[in-house]
Amino acid sequence: MSILKELESRLPADAGISEVKFEASEVVLYTKNPDFFRNSESCVRSIVREIKKRIEVRSDLSIVMDQEKAKEVIESIVPKEAEIDAIYFEPELGKVVIEAKKPGLVIGRAGATYREIKDQTLWLPKIERAPAIESKIVRAVRNLLHSEIDYRKKFLNKLGQDINTRTLTPEQTANEWVRMSFLGGFRQVGRSSLLLQTAQSNVMLDCGVDVGASGSEAMPYLDAPEFKMEKLDAVCLSHAHLDHSAFIPLLYERGYDGPLYATAPTRDLMVLLCMDYIDVCQKNGKEVGYTKKSIEKAVKHSVVLDYGEVNDITPDIRLTLQPAGHLLGSALTHLHIGEGLHNILYTADFKFGPTHLFDPAYKDFPRIETMIMESTYGAQQDLFPKRQEIEDNFFSIVKRTIERGGKVLIPVFAVGRAQEVMVMLAQNKELNADVYMEGMLWDATAIHTAYPEHMSQHMQRKIFHYGENPFISERFHRVHPKERDALIDSPTPCVIMATSGMLIGGPSVEYLKALAPDKRNTLVFVGYQGEGTLGSRIQKGWRELPLRGENGKTRSLNMEMEVQTISGLSGHSSRSQLISYLYNLSSKPETVIVNHGEPRKCAELARDVHKLFHCETVTPKNLESLRLR
Ligand code: ZN
Ligand code: ZN
Repeated sequence: MSILKELESRLPADAGISEVKFEASEVVLYTKNPDFFRNSESCVRSIVREIKKRIEVRSDLSIVMDQEKAKEVIESIVPKEAEIDAIYFEPELGKVVIEAKKPGLVIGRAGATYREIKDQTLWLPKIERAPAIESKIVRAVRNLLHSEIDYRKKFLNKLGQDINTRTLTPEQTANEWVRMSFLGGFRQVGRSSLLLQTAQSNVMLDCGVDVGASGSEAMPYLDAPEFKMEKLDAVCLSHAHLDHSAFIPLLYERGYDGPLYATAPTRDLMVLLCMDYIDVCQKNGKEVGYTKKSIEKAVKHSVVLDYGEVNDITPDIRLTLQPAGHLLGSALTHLHIGEGLHNILYTADFKFGPTHLFDPAYKDFPRIETMIMESTYGAQQDLFPKRQEIEDNFFSIVKRTIERGGKVLIPVFAVGRAQEVMVMLAQNKELNADVYMEGMLWDATAIHTAYPEHMSQHMQRKIFHYGENPFISERFHRVHPKERDALIDSPTPCVIMATSGMLIGGPSVEYLKALAPDKRNTLVFVGYQGEGTLGSRIQKGWRELPLRGENGKTRSLNMEMEVQTISGLSGHSSRSQLISYLYNLSSKPETVIVNHGEPRKCAELARDVHKLFHCETVTPKNLESLRLR
């Protein structure tokens, strides 16, 4: 019997069901019986246990309250302090979206307010956080999804049909196998991409760019013989960094129209970074291969997952994302294949150590047979100083610069490190200086304020219990390009954070030009400086820098300012954190595939993991494949 038939047979006779549908891996019931809508919880819970599918009960449109009236009722139920920004309806889904600055107050104690809204209006409330800092991206993504609700409903229904009702040929059932092809990011950092294939499914994990390369070298091997776009069932994105995400829109440009699985913050940050990627490529006369339309198409096909939620993504693959501790929304990808046939953990980039923003990577997986792990800092000498030492050092540099009347310039990558440094600056009570920010990092920070639930327990406690959101500290000021000169000319010491992080271009270079000749100022690097960049030259001790002026002529810039590097603030695991992660994993993998590292680091980590854990280790090259079962 089909799942839907089985489900219907288990419902009470008076449930008044008008429609039963799949929506991605969920089952949705529409009911005409208000009492069933209000009180179906325990009945549904027992069916979920039986059929192992998540179920959502929604009202049939014939019974919901009139929209205007429902809005009034909601406004009267929800306390003013919740700061509702918007209430709008999605009749196609029987939902009312309530966007509030304090969503916790819309839910109420033990869900009481939520239930009252539901019981009175018969609309199913969907509660969203209004970011503490207004974000153009979050707004645009939500608007797009809202305006495409009809398309999305059909898309999710069809997806659910495909996952749950695809019939298997006898050959497929008898002959189970699992293989993986390495399309990019093996023995290198950049263009991460893997293709997982089983007798029934084709799933891609990540599809990124190698920013240091050009042409086809910058892309994963999408022309590998085993990769066929028309056979692709699903794409899973681990996190938004471009070396994992930049070519996701390209898949949609080239005709893919299946689901993109990711966390909500990953989806939003991907939009921000891919939009910027297109702009940067255009400025430098580089081909991107896709347009902003394809980024929208990716969003339209996104299926957002919470950490820990188990989802069927094909008839034989179950996906679970867990926190990776690396970046807002970053995830470890766990794939359960068949009925216990094989379990894969793809770590992508992860941090098994404390940072202000995130808790260490999740480790309690019940089963892992094959693990694919990163090795960015996989060599034996890749150790970081203690966190406290790093921060003490950072603040002593900032303090002495401020005391001598100078300005501190911190070039930062917009997403990740910038917010970590912001939290450090916001929390230091002794610091007596304002912090100015220019460039995309402000937009990235705004997205962070939409998703505090994706941050560390410590951060959540600060924000929710003590009302101390470090990102909206009074110390922080956004600088528009036209205010830049005034900031530079101001005699008041301060801290300036600006993109790009490697001084490749953008406002950070403009500040550098103005601040370099003054001995009182300091340039502080907090992230990796790629070979050949202006940042890496300065780090190596260059003090006369050739710079192209506005008239196209080259002039030299004298570096009189102090130069410092703070290492160890990375969102990646250090060598010892990588090893410690393996010690702490609740299930020991039989095979460890090492990727996302320079060739030497992949090899060194693989060798040592083999010695320490007696498991098989592999360091494949791009384009190689491995049969896992
Ligand atoms: Zn990353
Ligand atoms: Zn990466």
